[in-house]
Amino acid sequence: MASFRESLSKGLTTINVKTNNFMEESKCKTYISTLEKEIRDLKLNLGDIMYGSWLSGESDETALQTIMEQIKQKYEEIEQQKKIMEQLTISEQQILGTGSNVQTGAMIYCAQCGAQNASNYKFCCKCGKALG
Ligand SMILES: [Zn+2]
Repeated sequence: MASFRESLSKGLTTINVKTNNFMEESKCKTYISTLEKEIRDLKLNLGDIMYGSWLSGESDETALQTIMEQIKQKYEEIEQQKKIMEQLTISEQQILGTGSNVQTGAMIYCAQCGAQNASNYKFCCKCGKALG
């Protein structure tokens, strides 16, 4: 019974971590695409102002500076979001284990009682017969 509960909670942890990370990651991705769109808009704005000042012969350095600062900030935010996503992947690997036998490993069946065992088990978890 203990092993059932153990494997159940391990399964739930996997689902929780994956769901959480998936949600966090899509939040990051949405935010990044919003930022990228804002950067494009700001660059268009920048182009308008530059063209306007070329046309009129008067340059508005302050407006240009402000927009360029905004663009820089948004690029920095994108970098931050990317780092958060990297961290998510790393923490997921740490929680769930990088080895393939933790959750996704192949199962083998006991020849004696038919119980399902992880492929790295040397003995059947149910009847104790040597596996493999
Ligand atoms: Zn067995």
